[in-house]
Amino acid sequence: EPIHDAVLGRAAEYGDIPALVDGVNGTTLTYAQLDAFTRKIAAALAESGLRKGDVLALHSPNTIAYPAVFYGATRAGATVTTVHPLATPAEFAKQLRDADARWIVTVSPLLETAQAAAAEAGGIKEILVCDEAPGHRSILDLLATTAPEPRVDIDPAEDIAVLPYSSGTTGTPKGVMLTHRNIATNLAQLDATMDAQPGERILAVLPFFHIYGLTALMNGPLRKGVTVVVLPRFELDQFLTAIEKHRIQGLYAVPPIILALAKHPAVEQHDLSSLEFVLSAAAPLDADLARACAARLGLPPILQAYGMTELSPGSHNVPRGCTDFPAGAVGKLLPSTEMRITSLDEPGRDLGTDGTGEVWFRGPQVMKGYLGRPEETDAMIDADGWLHTGDVGRVDADGWLHIVDRVKELIKYKGYQVAPAELEAVLLTDPRIADAAVIGVHDEEGTEVPKAFVVPQPGRELTADDVMQYVAGQVAPYKKVRRVEFVGQIPRAISGKILRRELRDRERSTRP
Ligand code: ATP
Ligand code: MG
Repeated sequence: EPIHDAVLGRAAEYGDIPALVDGVNGTTLTYAQLDAFTRKIAAALAESGLRKGDVLALHSPNTIAYPAVFYGATRAGATVTTVHPLATPAEFAKQLRDADARWIVTVSPLLETAQAAAAEAGGIKEILVCDEAPGHRSILDLLATTAPEPRVDIDPAEDIAVLPYSSGTTGTPKGVMLTHRNIATNLAQLDATMDAQPGERILAVLPFFHIYGLTALMNGPLRKGVTVVVLPRFELDQFLTAIEKHRIQGLYAVPPIILALAKHPAVEQHDLSSLEFVLSAAAPLDADLARACAARLGLPPILQAYGMTELSPGSHNVPRGCTDFPAGAVGKLLPSTEMRITSLDEPGRDLGTDGTGEVWFRGPQVMKGYLGRPEETDAMIDADGWLHTGDVGRVDADGWLHIVDRVKELIKYKGYQVAPAELEAVLLTDPRIADAAVIGVHDEEGTEVPKAFVVPQPGRELTADDVMQYVAGQVAPYKKVRRVEFVGQIPRAISGKILRRELRDRERSTRP
C-alpha cells in the first residue's frame, strides 16, 4: 500500500475532525481538507513536471502544511527526503547531491539557506515555499490548480517513499531508503500497541523530519483520525502552554523533555491534567527520571519505544495502557518481526534469555538499504536479511527488551566490557551532578578506561575524587570511573543522544 493511502485511506470518514492544528495561532486543517490538499498538490507538482522517482527535499520545521506537502509529493510519485531545518547550506547541499534531489519545498525564513544549498548542489528545478516569498511559487498557489490528479503506478515493495538521513550520531548521516511497504507495514505493526482514537489530541513538538516524529506524530496519528497539534520547536514555556490550552492527551517525547517535565519549576505554573500518556524514545531514559516525571504529573509509568531509522523505525514498544512493565524496558517485540540477541565475542552465536549481546532484527520494516552505499548496507544487513543494529541489549524472561548501549561505545577495560550509559545513569543519581557523559580513553599503559565528563550542579562543591568515589560505591570494581573532567555542558543532539563522538574528538585534540 502506498504511504499516502496507508495514512489517508480513511480521511473521508474522519471528515470534519481537525487533523492538524497550529499550536501557536490555532489555524486548523480538517481531515477532508488535508486529503483534498494532498490531491491538489500532487496534481500541480505533476503538471510542473515532477515525475515518479524524482526526489523532493522537504526543508521545514513542523507546520500544518508539512504533511500536506509530504503526502502530495508521494501521491505524485516523488521520494521525499526530509531535511533538518537547522542544516547549514553546506550540509543541505551535501544531502541534495547525495539524494540527487530535483525539488525543494522550504519556508520563507529558511529560503536563503535553501537557495545557497541549491546553488552549491546543482540540479534543482524549482524551490517552492509553504508560506510566501517573492519570486517563488507557494504551496497555496498549487492548491489553485485545475490539473487532474496524476495516475502514478507505485510498487510498494520497490519504490522509495521516504529518504530520511540517519542522525549521524556515530558518523556521517546516511540516506536510508524506506519503501512504501516498509512504512505501511510498520504503521500496521504499531496499530495495536498505540491504540489511538479519532479526535484524541496529541502534541507534535519533535521534528517531523526525523523518522521518530514522522511516524509517531504524523503518519501514525493521521492514520487514526487523531488531532495533531503542531509546534515548530521545543521551547518549554510554549510547550507547556500548548498542552494546557489544547488539552493535550498524549505526548511523544525524548529524554531531555522528560527531564524538563520532571524537574523544571515552570511545570508547576501549568495545568497539565489533560495528559493521559507520555512516551519516550530515541535515547536511553533513566528509570529514576522516568519515575520522577510520572509521579510529578500524576501519570501512569512513562512508556518507551525503541527503533532506528533503518527499521522504519519501530521494533519494540511498551503498549499503551500497560502499567506493569519492568523499569527501563523499551518494549516488547512488534508482530511479524524476528529478533536475535547475539554474542559480542562470537558473532552469530545466539544468546538465550537474559544474555547480553548485539540485537538483530528481520522483518518487513527493515530498510531497502543505504542510498549509494552498498558496502555499508552489506555491513548492516547480512545475506540472510538480518539487520545488525549495533545496539547491545538483553531480553528478560517475560520478553521485555532492555537496551544497554551501542556496541561501538562499550569500553573494553582489561577484558571486561563497560557500558557508558550505565555509568552515566549512576552519575546522574548524585545530587551534586547536573549532567554527565562517559567515554573510553587510553591511559598511560594503553588500557582503555572510563572517563566521565561532569557538569556540577550550580553551587555544589565537587572534586574529581568525589565523583570517582561516588561511582565506585555503586558498581563492580572493573566498572569504576578512572578519569574525570568538569565541563560546562554535555554535547547532545536535540533527541537527547549524547554526542560521544564530539567528546572523543576533543579528547584526541587535547592529548599531547
Ligand atoms: P547514526 O546511525 O547516523 O550514527 P543514530 O543511530 O543516532 O545515528 P537514529 O536512527 O536516529 O540515528 O537512532 C537510532 C538509535 O537510537 C538506536 O540505534 C539506539 O542506539 C538509539 N535508541 C532509540 N531508541 C532508544 C531507546 N528507547 N533507548 C535507548 N536507545 C535508543
Ligand atoms: Mg544508527
